[in-house]
Amino acid sequence: MKLKGSEGYVNEFKGDKKMENSSFSLKEKVAIVTGGNGGIGKGIAEGFAAAGSDVVVVARNQQKIQETVQGIQERFKTRVIGISCDVSKEEGIRAMMQEVRDKLGKIHILVNNAGMNIRKMPQDYEAADWDQVLETNLRGPFLCCHAVYPFMKEAGFGKIINIGSMTSIFGGPKLAPYGASKGGIVQLTKSLATAWAPDNIQVNAILPGWIDTALTRQARKDIEGLHERVLDRTPAGRWGVPVDLAGTAVFLSSAASDFVTGTAIPVDGGFSTAI
Ligand code: NDP
Repeated sequence: MKLKGSEGYVNEFKGDKKMENSSFSLKEKVAIVTGGNGGIGKGIAEGFAAAGSDVVVVARNQQKIQETVQGIQERFKTRVIGISCDVSKEEGIRAMMQEVRDKLGKIHILVNNAGMNIRKMPQDYEAADWDQVLETNLRGPFLCCHAVYPFMKEAGFGKIINIGSMTSIFGGPKLAPYGASKGGIVQLTKSLATAWAPDNIQVNAILPGWIDTALTRQARKDIEGLHERVLDRTPAGRWGVPVDLAGTAVFLSSAASDFVTGTAIPVDGGFSTAI
């Protein structure tokens, strides 16, 4: 399928030596990205590496983790490790956090990006569908935040970014559990932001618009005319690419955003502001 606009758009986040001394630098920081082996998570992980941080790629598919780790290491010469972990499993999350702490010494940044969707009309969902979506998209992020908190306290500060969606704002007929999970992400973000501000931990959400990834490639198959509808509705006139999220993620992970907490920032080419 032809992706107008985003096709020629460079999916690359630029960082260089000049950034090292700026407030936006992530030098000597350790950043965990769940779902970092593909799509938006990979774009953010690359952005972090370009900004100088060590990166931990967390997901389930080992082969995709290995390829991503190798690719980032080769391009950015930074420390990158991959850990296989299912964010719907509490024990695995706690073991993953401990492994990061043991291997890289500290944890400063967590991006809760891993997510999935099951599209059905509300009346067609099984309880198991609901549980799977909520466990991955909302319970998982909460448990990751819960598990990382002691390590951020230990480090003296922390930055948490939760990935929401346009469905954090808008509804849709086949989005009942997904929309509930992404609406919940925004409220979770606000609660954690207020609770942990005294610990110097900032918690924010990013709400991506329509981004070209495996997730939305499937959506374009399932929903006739989606591709064109997104182009028509997006003022920027294109689909997003994963690295479009990297700039905002780097900002929200850096000292430049130390007085920013509890927000939900759309990165959507204007989608959420258009009539
Ligand atoms: P992809 O399907 O491309 O990537 C999803 C990532 O999550 C993969 O890395 C996958 O890796 C990982 N993942 C899924 N389930 C689990 C799990 N149980 N445990 C650990 N990792 C898991 O999707 P996107 O990149 O598009 O989506 C990333 C995030 O952005 C999601 O939260 C999504 O809801 C959100 N989003 C996406 C938009 C878009 O337009 N693409 C728009 C708005 C929000 P693996 O399978 O190896 O575990």
